[in-house]
Formats: sequence, structure tokens, C-alpha cells
Amino acid sequence: MQELGFELMLVTPGADLRYLIGYNAIPLERITALVLQPHAEPFLLVPRLEVSTAMASPFGDLGWEVIGWAESANPYEIIGERSGFNGGRVAVDNHMWAERVLKLSENFPGATIELAAPIISAIRIIKTPTELDFLRVAAAAIDRVHAQIPHVLRVGRTEEEVGKDIADLILSEGHARVDFVIVASGPNGASPHHELSDRVIQPGDPVVVDIGGTMPSGYCSDCTRTYSMGDPGEQFRQRYSILQRAQELSTNAVSHGAVSHDIDAAGRNELATHGLGEHFIHRTGHGIGLETHEEPYLGENNQTVILNNMIFSIEPGFYFEGVHGARIEDIVICTADGPEPVNKQTRDLVIIGI
Ligand code: ZN
Ligand code: ZN
Repeated sequence: MQELGFELMLVTPGADLRYLIGYNAIPLERITALVLQPHAEPFLLVPRLEVSTAMASPFGDLGWEVIGWAESANPYEIIGERSGFNGGRVAVDNHMWAERVLKLSENFPGATIELAAPIISAIRIIKTPTELDFLRVAAAAIDRVHAQIPHVLRVGRTEEEVGKDIADLILSEGHARVDFVIVASGPNGASPHHELSDRVIQPGDPVVVDIGGTMPSGYCSDCTRTYSMGDPGEQFRQRYSILQRAQELSTNAVSHGAVSHDIDAAGRNELATHGLGEHFIHRTGHGIGLETHEEPYLGENNQTVILNNMIFSIEPGFYFEGVHGARIEDIVICTADGPEPVNKQTRDLVIIGI
């Protein structure tokens, strides 16, 4: 904060707060905020009725002050009094509610409010060994779900029916929460963020299954595999093998010092060479941690330099409107020894017998 010239930083409930102090606070209409200054001990401002919950979290072990604000008080006044802040640059977490940002500027007319991302993302983007272990455990859990997909993905069932079974498996394999379940069969595969529908799965359908959840540790999983209900036909097989090569090339481009758009280009160029470039309509990947999507992002315009202990998805795909689609997604750690994909299920097209 001092280096970047910030006088004050406010972090409200969300992944940033959980990362910094271990308090997984529920976002409420009453403000909770960690208040940080360059030369003072941080303090946590919480509604009075949340004090005991906050102290029961790992925050309680830090020995920092917690201030419970009463219903009748103006919490922004308390921030001003306690911090002595009366003007200058204030960093706020990226997910702070607009309502709070507006109240801040109302209460501190001399404040310039900016995003805290240059401070907090710079810390969160590099994972500690403990975080990487949590993410490996999350990946192993979602891999066990993919291993069981051939038992629930069946011709004659709807995407919704299959999706419900997958959601149950995500929980039974150790996640605390299901974050998303995409079962995109046949032409629905052409929509990267299709979720579930009442479409009945047909023989010959390719089916894109992209699933993820949050573990009790707070860390997330995210993995895509493409399945086929019997033979999907020669054209799809060919396209799939190009995609598989592209996914491999992007993965192999991961190294300490690589620029994220070059990792994107490694796979994108392979798809373009074989006529699939226009059909790869999204970026190659996103970081993952306490959030499913976080820094770094790997797309055509991303300049982030990838460093050891960053972790992100490599997930190229192709999408043909009204016909079919496919995607292969692994979470990959950049290590001193090169890329480490933490998802281990086969990346081959998985043919399910019909
Ligand atoms: Zn992803
Ligand atoms: Zn995904």
C-alpha cells in the first residue's frame, strides 16, 4: 500500500477477505470490512451481532482488534474516527457492493476510490505450497467425478437428469458446494456456457461435461472432458484430435517467464492452422483458487507474465452453431520443472458404449 501510495484499504466479505484473514463472512446489508493502513495495525469492523462469528474464525487468532458497530451507528464514521483518514487514495476490494462504494465517497468527500486489485491480486496470483496442495486435492475430487460419468451419462436420459446425478457425485466426492454443472449434448455443445436442459441424449451425440465445486478448504475445482455416445462420426473425431493437440501445445507452453498470450497462441494457432480458429470463441484459460475465475487470465490480449506457483486452466474448445462442440480443460500449475496438470483423467474422447 505504501509503495503504491494508498492511505487506506477496505476489504469486504468475499474471497479477498477470506484469503487475508480466514474469515468466510456472509455478505449482509450491514457492512463488514477489514480496514488496513500502511503504518497501523489492521482492524475488522463488523456489525455487533457478527462479532462472535468473526472471532470464531481464524481471524480470532491474529490478535487484531475487532470493532462491533451498533445498529444506530454510522459505520463509515467509525472507520474515519478510528483510522484518522480524511482524504487521499482508498483501495477497495473488486467485489465491494456499489452501494458501499457510494456511501464511502459520500462520507469521505476527499477520498479517491480505486480498486485494490494491484495489491491483493498480486499476492493471491502466486499460490503457497499449502494452497497448491488444496487445489491438487480439489482436482483429484473432480477427477473422481469424471471417472464415474460413464455410469450416469446414458442415451435416453435428459441433460437435467444426468446433471442432477453429477451434482450428487460432486458432493459425495468431497466438495462442500456444487458451483456449476454443464452437460451440453449434441448441438448444445456449441454453447460454451450451456448448463442443463430437458434435451434427451441421442446416439452419436458428443457431450461436453464441464463441472466444478468448492472444497471445504474454500479452494475450487474445474474440469472439462468431452464424451461421445457411441461413434460421433469422422468429422467430429478429426476436429477433436486437433483440439487435443492444441490443448497439449498450450499446456507445454507453460513455463516460468512465459507471457499468457503466448500460451493462448500456442493452442489457438494449431486450431487456426486446421480451420478451427474461428470456432475457438473464448480465451484459453483463467486462474483458479478461492474463486473459480481469478487472475491470471490467458487470452489473446493478456500480457501477464506467468511465474512459478501460478495455477490456471488450459481449456481450448471448438463450437459449431447448431451442430456440435468440444472442450478439454485441465488445471495446470507452472512449476520449476514445467507444467503440472493436476487433472489426470484421460484427455482422449471418451466413447460411451450404447
Ligand atoms: Zn474453467
Ligand atoms: Zn470449466
